[in-house]
Amino acid sequence: AYSAAPTRLTVLGSTGSIGVNTLDVIRHLGGRQRFEVMALTGNGNIELLAAQARETGAQLAVTADEKLYGALKDRLSGTSTRVAAGQSGLQEAASLNAEWVMAAIVGTAGLAPTLTAAARGATIALANKECLVSAGKLFVDAVKSGGGKLIPVDSEHSAIFQCLEERQREAVERIILTASGGPFRAYTRDEMADVTVEKARAHPNWSMGLKISVGSASMFNKALEVIEAKHLFDVTPEQIEVVVHPQSVIHSMVGYADGAVMAQLGSPDMRTAIGYALTYPTRPALPVERLDFARIARLDFEAPDETRFPALRLARLALERGGQQAAIMNAAEETAFDGFVDGRLRFLEMAEIAEAVMESMTAWPDASTIDDVFAADLEARRLATIEIGRR
Ligand code: NAD
Ligand code: MG
Repeated sequence: AYSAAPTRLTVLGSTGSIGVNTLDVIRHLGGRQRFEVMALTGNGNIELLAAQARETGAQLAVTADEKLYGALKDRLSGTSTRVAAGQSGLQEAASLNAEWVMAAIVGTAGLAPTLTAAARGATIALANKECLVSAGKLFVDAVKSGGGKLIPVDSEHSAIFQCLEERQREAVERIILTASGGPFRAYTRDEMADVTVEKARAHPNWSMGLKISVGSASMFNKALEVIEAKHLFDVTPEQIEVVVHPQSVIHSMVGYADGAVMAQLGSPDMRTAIGYALTYPTRPALPVERLDFARIARLDFEAPDETRFPALRLARLALERGGQQAAIMNAAEETAFDGFVDGRLRFLEMAEIAEAVMESMTAWPDASTIDDVFAADLEARRLATIEIGRR
């Protein structure tokens, strides 16, 4: 295990929305003067990856795409940054002795490297919720046995983490996740039937990667977050509530046994959660826009509608059934998301695919190893692909 103030850092998924924000936080907190960047990883955007490696002086830059190895190497010639590619490259990045690792790869592609970093005791700043949803308790146990910490970066879970007082843990009654409701909050199901990817990705409050933006529109992202909360905070599904709050000013809340509710508020800027994960238990100074309450004027709340947004119902179903249903739901939906993005599926069909695959895998055995998780993930993707072909 490492101490609370890290100097050696790795960013898995540095070229994405969270990755870019992470490097911005690092820049604000002193950059190369204060931190040593061990590894940065990306996928297709090697121009950005190379620029990031040059700026930070990273020891290692990795593209997940093996075909881009040569091109990345060319772009980093004359620097001291080593270059690697593919799964072995990602594993190498996770293995370097960074004390703090930002897990910001999107989807279950992030699971293997994040586990490697967890196993050697690094503090894991977790944005990549899919890996926790899929591997669940195995993931939490890997962090525990590695001796490191797991600090949430997802804004809701960071908010809850900030509202949880360790000495009052026994008195936690409920966790209240806020949801913006996304761009289709006020749409009927009929209106949602034909929406385009462009419409679905247009989040009203946050600027984020494509997958999570579409997931906010379908509320599938909130479904993942319910499962994420269960594993992070060791609460029962019944203790987790979701409330739609269109302004996204309250990032989430914790309700205690005495009736008190603690909330964390802020601008929709991921740098607050990233900075907190980096310097916890202290807070860094960051140039995030300050809330102007008189201008905000009001905060609204409404109950989520599980008929229009079936993803929330699927998350409850996955938790109720247990076993590998969460991993199956996640993998099927990830496959369905690809289908929606490349035009093979309509928006509302994503949840239908996820539910059909969950249904056909109810007898799938529980996971006792990570390989079992990968097996369920693979089978769910295979079934989802067949199901998409039928539409
Ligand atoms: P993004 O699409 O912007 O970036 C994804 C990163 O993963 C990129 O660096 C990309 O190169 C890399 N990547 C993609 N496919 C890969 C593969 N097959 N192998 C290895 N690397 C691959 O996504 P994002 O919005 O930054 O989200 C990253 C994670 O953080 C997701 O799990 C998301 O749910 C979570 N998250 C994001 C936000 C946000 O504000 N963007 C907020 C909360 C949680
Ligand atoms: Mg979130």
